[in-house]
Amino acid sequence: MAVMAAPENTPVWVNTDRCKACDICVDACPAGVLAMQPEATSVLGAMISVIAPEACIGCNECELCCPDFAIYVAEKKEFKFAKLTDSAKARQEAIRNNGYRLPDEYKEAN
Ligand code: SF4
Ligand code: SF4
Repeated sequence: MAVMAAPENTPVWVNTDRCKACDICVDACPAGVLAMQPEATSVLGAMISVIAPEACIGCNECELCCPDFAIYVAEKKEFKFAKLTDSAKARQEAIRNNGYRLPDEYKEAN
């Protein structure tokens, strides 16, 4: 259950104070919703980013696997989640294959 107040109309959100940029949630997401982005002020030089919130299917995998309780998913009764699509799966594969960062071709498409 989310321990941080849910922002309105948001399927998934992060407490960046807690995130240590371990990539675990990015790897676990089936829908290519999450990716790491460069962040100079972060210890590891990267920070989690919700890059495709509209593709979130509400599976809760990210919240369940985060070792630092830094990422939260909206309750099903409060948000209408997407269905898993082939393009979301393809984006996830591309993110994994690019060291958990969104490849440039997806940045241009967004
Ligand atoms: S699993 Fe948690 S700590 Fe790791 S990158 Fe995701 S939100 Fe950050
Ligand atoms: S709830 Fe599921 S689809 Fe949504 S960001 Fe988390 S892991 Fe990805």
